[in-house]
Amino acid sequence: MSIAENKIKKFEHGNCAENNVFYQAMEEVIYSIAPLLESDDRYTRFGILDRLVVPDRIIKFKVTWLDDNNQIQVNTGYRVQFNNALGPYKGGLRFHPSVNEGILKFLGFEQILKNSLTGLPIGGAKGGSDFDPKGKSDFEVMKFCTAFMTELHKYIGSRIDVPAGDIGVGGREIGYLFGEYKKITSSYEGALTGKPYFFGGSLMRPEATGYGVVYFTQSMLEIEQKEPLDGKICTVSGAGNVALHVIEKLQEIGAIVVTCSDSHGTVYDPRGIDLALVKELKLNKRVSLEEYVQTHTEAKYTPVAEYPQDGHMVWSVPCYAAFPCATQNELSEVDAQSLIENGCVSVSEGANMPSTPEAIALLQSHKVCFAPAKAANAGGVAVSEFEMSQNASMSRWSYEQVDAKLKETMQMICKRVALTAKDYGVEGNYVDGANIAGFKKVADAMIAEGI
Ligand code: NDP
Repeated sequence: MSIAENKIKKFEHGNCAENNVFYQAMEEVIYSIAPLLESDDRYTRFGILDRLVVPDRIIKFKVTWLDDNNQIQVNTGYRVQFNNALGPYKGGLRFHPSVNEGILKFLGFEQILKNSLTGLPIGGAKGGSDFDPKGKSDFEVMKFCTAFMTELHKYIGSRIDVPAGDIGVGGREIGYLFGEYKKITSSYEGALTGKPYFFGGSLMRPEATGYGVVYFTQSMLEIEQKEPLDGKICTVSGAGNVALHVIEKLQEIGAIVVTCSDSHGTVYDPRGIDLALVKELKLNKRVSLEEYVQTHTEAKYTPVAEYPQDGHMVWSVPCYAAFPCATQNELSEVDAQSLIENGCVSVSEGANMPSTPEAIALLQSHKVCFAPAKAANAGGVAVSEFEMSQNASMSRWSYEQVDAKLKETMQMICKRVALTAKDYGVEGNYVDGANIAGFKKVADAMIAEGI
């Protein structure tokens, strides 16, 4: 039995359903790095994998808050501090009813390698709560964030652990969390990133993940000698922070984006998505995308109940490039088959692990360029680190400066991933390239730092 198979067998022992996504992420990494493990026995001798798959600590706490009817509400809060070999723990907070320890372990584990790929001094973490901001008043969101930070502040700090946003946590939530952190600690320090610009945020943080995905894709298409994106039909899923900025950048470079989606359904607008309208519906009115077709009657709205069996409406639309930007496991094998049949050339993951392992295998076997999340969506955390640097030096970088550094970082990651894949005999496989390059840097640091 190979080292990789041995490890997977060992780690899966005692698996429970909650941990399924974590094991899915872990297995992918272990299979990818098999050539590295076989070629250099230091990683086995120093027990790197055994140490890497267990978080340094998992903090779990009760969050009690009063709703607008003065009723007491109780949620669970988490922070999974996974690995700080390369720098302070860093990773977003997710507020969504589906949040549990397993999901945060999967996201935290991915974050270690993603942060490593950026070449910046940041470790990996993730956190959040099963609190659902949807349908809550601003005041309720503020009270929840305040209560959440009452506990979380004990474990974070600009050189310890620096959380940011994720699903359900945007500028509004980060503002409330930061305000409470400041109040409790009497300290104005960059203990959170994703802050609004006027009190310490970096320009371009909201755009960074989405724009970075497009920069990565441009670079990948160039390396793989495919046609560029301008004038091409693109499909995007999601209508949140990542999706909106992927659409924005794609439109800016002349691509035609014909879809977006939310948790209720999908919009297909063959004339091109009206981004201003989607922003109005999702960011200002905070309503379902169903209202899109009231303004654009030529567009089609498909509710989730009418999606293809085992599939997602977005991926049945013919496109040159696809961008899954909503959530994990939203692009299935059935979807991959539709994309291939419709001539799709590239798939870039904006969301974390949106494609199932079967979908990835199928896409790769049909030579579809595939950009995995941990490389393609690393632009968000890179600009978060730029925010940490600006906070530490009390300085402000211009929009152009941040954009240039973001573009440079995404191109660097793409080239490094492509080169690593080539060096390890899997040319064109960006999944293996990203896993090997990300793992190697963290592992080497862990060896150098001792146990
Ligand atoms: P948002 O909360 O801003 O948006 C999430 C979007 O996905 C919404 O449109 C939401 O629909 C939709 N969605 C959520 N769950 C489902 C579901 N089960 N089925 C279909 N649609 C769903 O989150 P972000 O845009 O910030 O994050 C999206 C993804 O990108 C996540 O995987 C996140 O981890 C990842 N990511 C985010 C980064 C960032 O900088 N924000 C950085 C790196 C990765 P609805 O409006 O109905 O809720």
